[in-house]
Amino acid sequence: MMNAMQFDGKSLNPIERDLRDPEGHEVLLRVQACGICGTDIKILKGESEASPPVILGHEFCGIVEKTGTQVTFVQAGDSISVDPNIACGQCRFCRKGKVHLCENLTAIGVNIDGGFATHCYVPESQCYSIPPSLSPEQAALMEPLSCALYGFQKAEIHSGDAVVIVGGGMIGLLMLKLVRLSPARVVLLVEPDISRRNFGMTQGADAAFDPHDPRLQEKIRTLTRGGADCVIECVGNIQAVKTAYSLLNRGSHLILFGVTHPGHSFALYPYELFKNDIRISGSFLNPGTFQAAIDLVQSKKITLDDIAIHTFPLGEIEHAIENQTEQKSLKTVLTLNP
Ligand SMILES: [Zn+2]
Ligand SMILES: [Zn+2]
Repeated sequence: MMNAMQFDGKSLNPIERDLRDPEGHEVLLRVQACGICGTDIKILKGESEASPPVILGHEFCGIVEKTGTQVTFVQAGDSISVDPNIACGQCRFCRKGKVHLCENLTAIGVNIDGGFATHCYVPESQCYSIPPSLSPEQAALMEPLSCALYGFQKAEIHSGDAVVIVGGGMIGLLMLKLVRLSPARVVLLVEPDISRRNFGMTQGADAAFDPHDPRLQEKIRTLTRGGADCVIECVGNIQAVKTAYSLLNRGSHLILFGVTHPGHSFALYPYELFKNDIRISGSFLNPGTFQAAIDLVQSKKITLDDIAIHTFPLGEIEHAIENQTEQKSLKTVLTLNP
């Protein structure tokens, strides 16, 4: 028997279901931990698409309980973190290697049943082994870390660059840890919450600023010698995007990592982009970065021990969602089958 929280298009409801044997390439996982993501909250608010009725939760890990007859490299008892994004492998984008742009992309925990459950059936192709040194709560962070890693790779930070990260939440913090691995000359953080700014300073930021500081641009221009070479926006609202844009320099690169509301826009002057040779890039999902994210943690290049993770059991999912929505801790994770 499995227990889960199913999204019916409006709200989450507890369900019970009999377990069946996994088929073909399927793996039956006993879920250990599942992160609550901003995307889950957007789905519940009706601001992001899903395919109800569906069990949400796309940042999760677990132990393999049973495998289908065609499964070859995963075994019962293995610790697994799940890459939720499934590409078809056959459309023109997949065939160009751009699997995250797949025309038939489906996501576990969005379009098919995910990790807000005691058990989950996942294709073997989405399973990644995790080292025993990682706690389940940390293993559930591999999906957001893999996405941050893709954004970091797209930023193409060069030796001596001045980098600004806008947003000191979970993603901004992971980005900060990644940028600290690069040869950037200076890394600055822009974040309204003072405790998050202070934490960012302990994580390697050279300075941290309040976005409401009227002298923000001036201060950052001084520390970066005219403006950032690269700005990475990790908030996902228009005000933060505007702030990020205002910190650019000639030849800068702006990475839009945060997920803004699809209906929100802001005006910019194409001439400014042209004359200053400015590049703006989106960063979508995690193509080819899941194993690398695990490897960075296994090799201790990236440490997760210092991230405040608040855990809740499945039955307290409402509190967990409230905790994540109100940002009471950096990350909220459901723990299952303790
Ligand atoms: Zn997510
Ligand atoms: Zn495809």
